[in-house]
Amino acid sequence: MSSVDLTAEAQRQLRICTACMYCDGLCPVFPAIDNQHRFELSDLSYLSNLCHNCRGCWSACQYAPPHPFAINLPATLAAVRQQSYADYLWPSALGRAFLRPMLSIVLVVGMALLFTLTAVLLSTSPAALLTGDGSPGAFYRVLPWPLMAGAAGLSLLWAVLCIALATLRYWRGIAPPLPAGAILRALRPALSDIVTLRHLGGGGPGCNDVDERPSQQRRIAHHVMVAGFLGTVLSTITASIYHHSFGWLAPYPLTSLPVLLGTGGGIAMLAGIGGLLTIERRADKQPSDPHEVQLNVAFLILLGVVTLSGLALLGLRDTAAMGGLLILHLGLVFGFFMALPFTKAIHAPFRAAALLRAAAEAQAAKRLPGKRRD
Ligand code: SF4
Ligand code: SF4
Repeated sequence: MSSVDLTAEAQRQLRICTACMYCDGLCPVFPAIDNQHRFELSDLSYLSNLCHNCRGCWSACQYAPPHPFAINLPATLAAVRQQSYADYLWPSALGRAFLRPMLSIVLVVGMALLFTLTAVLLSTSPAALLTGDGSPGAFYRVLPWPLMAGAAGLSLLWAVLCIALATLRYWRGIAPPLPAGAILRALRPALSDIVTLRHLGGGGPGCNDVDERPSQQRRIAHHVMVAGFLGTVLSTITASIYHHSFGWLAPYPLTSLPVLLGTGGGIAMLAGIGGLLTIERRADKQPSDPHEVQLNVAFLILLGVVTLSGLALLGLRDTAAMGGLLILHLGLVFGFFMALPFTKAIHAPFRAAALLRAAAEAQAAKRLPGKRRD
């Protein structure tokens, strides 16, 4: 469907929903469209990212196919959401490429190969790439610290810069005409919605993750994966403190904080990724957009491969495979961060921005006499 047709179709369905409002209470999309009859492109970008794809309105809708109204809000908003990513990504030129999920995989593999080649060329002793003894400083005998830190820092900086600029562009596109005070007051409730993934609760009983039965599976799997990711971030931070503040060189003992956090985080990430992939595989395909499914799966597989390479390095660090695994893991991490702004990861800041607008509008409505909703 062309973007013009998609816009017209989303506007048509939302106008029917506005007249119906049977699903009011399922999620913040319905309060946001209440009494609205015109939906500009910016409104569609906002609403599509406010939708958490819980599918509650699909299961509840009396106008879903085969009814002639053919309402399928989750699938339509998912398609509009992909369009919003492409419209606001930075650099803009890469926005179109984002529409091809395979690109992120190719980008990560390409960057990992580039890193490997650079590591081999810069290595003072190629033999060191095939050794491993697990003693302090062993990692740096394979790869010099400046190369490790430089590649990690460069790729992280690139990811943060691209995601921040894309989010800023998106926010400018959807920002409500409210005073700054109203936006600031909305930060707290919006943050609460973001951290708890409240809207993956489908208004209380849960999402229709797989079929019409309410479930909290996706919400739980998502929480587990994010908690695991935070564990690995904390592991990196503590390792950095060990290195720079105490002069203790990696690899660290199995009972050390960086290793415990990294191992626990990695296992939790794999559990969350496995849960989300299973839900994606079993889910009813009708209320979904095939392109979004591909983006989800590509992102989860990439994240899983990076996590597995980290755990493999941990498990085999005392063997001759350590050198190769270290280069593989760092190459994958480098590639992953370089590709991150063009993967499904962009949904997180865009959804956060949409939730901030929803919270700000709810706060503003509360202050107007005769207005309802929160
Ligand atoms: S999804 Fe269907 S039932 Fe729900 S508000 Fe829209 S038209 Fe009404
Ligand atoms: S799929 Fe869920 S979050 Fe999206 S519009 Fe329907 S009820 Fe709201």
